[in-house]
Amino acid sequence: MAGGRTGILKRSVPLKKMQKKKRKIAVVTGGAGFIGFHMCERLMEEGVRVLCVDNLITGSKNNLEDLARHREFEFIRHDVTKPIYVPGKVNYVLHLASPASPPDYLKAPIQTLKVGSLGTHNALGLSKEKRAVFLLASTSEVYGDPLVHPQPETYWGNVNPIGPRGVYDESKRFAEALTGAYRKSHGLQTRIVRIFNTYGPRMRPDDGRAIPTFISQALKNRPITVFGHGSQTRSFCYISDLIEGIWKMLTGRHLGPVNLGNQNEVSILQLAEKVVSLVGSRSKIVRRPLPEDDPKVRRPDIRLARRLLTWGPRVSLEDGLRMTIDWFRTCG
Ligand code: NAD
Ligand code: UDP
Repeated sequence: MAGGRTGILKRSVPLKKMQKKKRKIAVVTGGAGFIGFHMCERLMEEGVRVLCVDNLITGSKNNLEDLARHREFEFIRHDVTKPIYVPGKVNYVLHLASPASPPDYLKAPIQTLKVGSLGTHNALGLSKEKRAVFLLASTSEVYGDPLVHPQPETYWGNVNPIGPRGVYDESKRFAEALTGAYRKSHGLQTRIVRIFNTYGPRMRPDDGRAIPTFISQALKNRPITVFGHGSQTRSFCYISDLIEGIWKMLTGRHLGPVNLGNQNEVSILQLAEKVVSLVGSRSKIVRRPLPEDDPKVRRPDIRLARRLLTWGPRVSLEDGLRMTIDWFRTCG
């Protein structure tokens, strides 16, 4: 568990130099993680300079090394539950920092609650100081184990605040409430995206989420660990589709919350079988106990995103899994 401001990667450009040219500047908390990596890349492709602030609790040094090849990228190792001070102008603050995989947030329950609460407060404070657009990475977990299916943004959710997943779910619900309060009290320009299960290259093979776990197991011909009967469902979105949706929210006028996800719902058993077949693996499927409060179903209602952002997912589960498997074979 790292913390504190400990320096800037070698190849990065000092922020003062960044600010000499008239490019927009984004602060990305959690930029060394899976979604953060792809978001930083996209911002730089769009001509935006990026300052990534991450304490590497679940992020990856490889991601940082690859991002640091860009001249427009700078990294500060810092725990965002402590105040964030950045010199000069900032146009966007994207608050992505938070453990996101259930095993990760179960290992770090207090850090998870702190990054969703104190971390969001600090990121909002930075946005207020800089008059920057603030974007919160919220989650489908705000709907908990949903009693409404599929889940529209108007659904208030079914969350167990004292269950194991409560540390993540409640911190994100608090983060949404705080974001709304900053908008109303300080006139901040805020955006909230509720991200549904997203996958792709650069997930940690050992992060414990279903897709990286199943792919890693299948590539090694090891047993595929399906929890419960595998009848619980999820709807998996490929990373490039999600990034397009976040970019549209960031640069558009809509406050959200807006669901971003794929509507193709599969059972976890179907997912396991698909991964085994696409990898061409000899792995057998084995059953493991279902974790407490594991949502039984999940599928986003994305009519709002389609209408407001003219956004919808394009990559099929099969194509996305193939690209992810290829990446895990070579780099994972
Ligand atoms: P990830 O674990 O790969 O990345 C999270 C990043 O945040 C890591 O680099 C980690 O080191 C950093 N971080 C955590 N606590 C921090 C702190 N206190 N200070 C600084 N950095 C900190 O997870 P991800 O899948 O990339 O998720 C990114 C964001 O998107 C999270 O906020 C998550 O809740 C949200 N989200 C993701 C998904 C998904 O399917 N991937 C779904 C819903 C929501
Ligand atoms: N899961 C599983 N085996 C694993 C990891 C996860 O069966 O090795 C199940 C998990 O119980 C859940 C689903 O796969 O029902 C998706 O889990 P993930 O951790 O990817 O995301 P969640 O949607 O639960 O946050």
